[in-house]
This record gives sequence, structure tokens and C-alpha cells, in this order.
Amino acid sequence: MLRTRFCVANWKMNFNCTDTKSFLESWNNKELNNKEVKTIFCPSFTELNTGVEILQYSDSEIGAQNVFYESNGAYTGEVSCSMLKNIGCQWVIIGHSERRSIFSETNEMVRNKLDQLISERMNPIVCIGETKTQRENGKTQEILSQQLSIAFENQEDINLKNTIIAYEPVWAIGTGITATVEMVSDAHKSIRNIFNNNGFNGSNISILYGGSVTDGNATELSELTDVDGFLVGGASLDVDKFYAIYNQL
Ligand code: PEP
Repeated sequence: MLRTRFCVANWKMNFNCTDTKSFLESWNNKELNNKEVKTIFCPSFTELNTGVEILQYSDSEIGAQNVFYESNGAYTGEVSCSMLKNIGCQWVIIGHSERRSIFSETNEMVRNKLDQLISERMNPIVCIGETKTQRENGKTQEILSQQLSIAFENQEDINLKNTIIAYEPVWAIGTGITATVEMVSDAHKSIRNIFNNNGFNGSNISILYGGSVTDGNATELSELTDVDGFLVGGASLDVDKFYAIYNQL
């Protein structure tokens, strides 16, 4: 199976409706000649509808930054998979390090969200990654293995073609410090091995790197065999920078 390459924009809590419109209208005027790469924009919940409408005739797609794992009910402030699907949003980021650290999202919650996404036939973007201390203590592999084996427990039937893993070392997110080519290469290889050791075919899964990707460092990272694209935060807020990253994939 040929792996799909992705360029995903995580806008976090940054763009309002006006910003979203102006960004995506200018994106629609760009020539997307890099046909092997799928682009996905993840705005805040309030901008999803606008994004879906603007991109309806484009090859780019819209994703949410979070979802809750129950179908409906008394969960004030939460949004369900079916609500997202209903407006044409098929992709969802889960387990982002900001959700884990600021909102106490656990590996078990990530698993519940993954279960719900799979049962609703939606496409997950599962974020994993170690903290600085974990890396310094030689725990990177152990942490990645723990995050993945809890999230993907009992998911042998998952359609890996529409599943993205984003390796995002926590210390590289929004810091301007990018992991070295060796670190990314090692981590992506070990993620594929973790899948292989858990009953999946690791070579079928698209693994993106995230953590201070810019138009200045994208080429060397994208040349790595096991890097199938990027999850981009800060640099995705500038349409020309994001386009430059897309073109380097
Ligand atoms: C992210 O938020 O997923 C991310 C990778 O951010 P940045 O590119 O700003 O490091």
C-alpha cells in the first residue's frame, strides 16, 4: 500500500471567521501541483463550517482540533463526532500535547476518542510525543510505545490508510527548536516497529512530524523515508509559508 503524504495545519485558538475566510480564499488561488500531498486545515470549532464551505470544490479538507468520545448527552461544552460529520468535517486531531498538558487528556481518553472516531468512520490524527525530561531520561521509545499501545488497543480492524500518526516531541512544539533529522528518523522508525509489534502493518501508516516545522527546515525533514508529511502549528498561520512547506513535501 502506497502511503498518503499529508500537510496538516493546526491553527489552534488563533483564527476567527474573517481570518479563516481570507486565508482559505487565498489558499484556493494557489496552484496545488503537489498532487501526492493532501492538505488538511484544522480551525477552531466555530470556523469549521466556513472552512468546509470555502474548500468544497478544492482537494484540501477540513479537520477539527478535538472531539468528545460520547455520542450525545449532558456534556456541556463538548462536540461529538456526528456533529462534525454532519457539517462535512471528516478529520479530527486527538491527543495533542496541549490537550494532554493543559486539559489533562490521558492515553485512555485518547483511546476512547479513537474508538468513537472509528465507529463513526471518521479519520483520526493521533498525536504522540515525549517531553524534554522523558527524552533526557532515555524514555522516548517507552513513552511512544505506551501512548500508541493504549490508544490502539483492540483496533486491529482500523483502516490505516485514513489514519494519521503525528510524532510531535513536546519540547519542539511552538518553541522554534526542531528535532534533528536523526531524532525524527529514529522516532518514526520506532513508531512503525511499535505498530508491527502490535499486530498492524506499520508500513501502511502515514506518520507526520510536528514541532516547529518551517519553510526553512521542511525539505531536509521531508526527505526522510519514514516522514510522510507534517503537522504544522505556527507556520501554518501564514498562507505563503504554509504553501512553501506544502511544496517541499
Ligand atoms: C502543533 O501545534 O502541532 C505544532 C507542531 O506547532 P508548531 O509548528 O508551532 O511547533
